[in-house]
Amino acid sequence: MKRFTVKDFNTKFPNDDACLEWLRNNRWPEGIYCEKCQRVTKHHKVTGRPVYACDFCGHQVSPMAGTIMEKSATSLKLWFYAMYLMASTRCGISAKQLERELGVTYKTAWRIFKQIRSMLNDNIVLEGSSVEADETYVGGVRRGKRGRGAEGKTVVFGMAERKGKVIAKVVPDVKANTLLPIIKEKVLESSIVYTDELPSYDRLPKLGYQHRRIHHASKVYVMGDIHTNTVDGFWSLIKRGISGVNHAVSAKYLQNYLNEYAFRYNRREQEEPMFEAFLSQVVVCQ
Ligand SMILES: [Zn+2]
Repeated sequence: MKRFTVKDFNTKFPNDDACLEWLRNNRWPEGIYCEKCQRVTKHHKVTGRPVYACDFCGHQVSPMAGTIMEKSATSLKLWFYAMYLMASTRCGISAKQLERELGVTYKTAWRIFKQIRSMLNDNIVLEGSSVEADETYVGGVRRGKRGRGAEGKTVVFGMAERKGKVIAKVVPDVKANTLLPIIKEKVLESSIVYTDELPSYDRLPKLGYQHRRIHHASKVYVMGDIHTNTVDGFWSLIKRGISGVNHAVSAKYLQNYLNEYAFRYNRREQEEPMFEAFLSQVVVCQ
């Protein structure tokens, strides 16, 4: 992955107008369609306001309308810089760190943080031929037995293609009726699904999947190519992130946290700097 340095950032986005220009060019790469003139027309920036006006009729459009920055009093450059900071470290940063780096109140930092995270939502289907599925428990203090006694913890269900992408979802429980419909929606029927011995997975072959199972209870973790090491690796990444960066993630925000981690993970081998991947989401999520 290419690096995007602070110097690169300041060169590309020296001020609010440069950020606005970026938004305009990326939202409307074919030019701005004027609703009044009913065609694509030339537009100019209105002095002192973050909008563009049609050269012919004066009708105005805001590149921020409909994006996560809409109606925000925070400057565009700060928004862009917040995305830069969140994208530029391997494990992400917390709202608290954002508060310090941006020099805004915690309330503002938290809002920016939450908004940026909310757009890091990949709606994907796993197309790999080998997919591992597994459940884990996040948060809380008490260690509990699987499936029960794990009070205070949130159940997370994950599916990972080998050498590919992951999907992680907060789920109410690990029952078959909860997990199997998610697999059916997100994993191709031609895939081999690798799981552990949880009975909830029993019906996978009936759903058309080839099913391979590892018996963790008998302390066997790998048998030939039968293992769940890929999804396990993703779980450790998530748990390290929670203890190292975020300290605690409430159940309410856990899904957004998972989305951010999956978003990064799914782009780990891309050439494009992570910051640019974050930025393009602004245009995707409008
Ligand atoms: Zn016009």
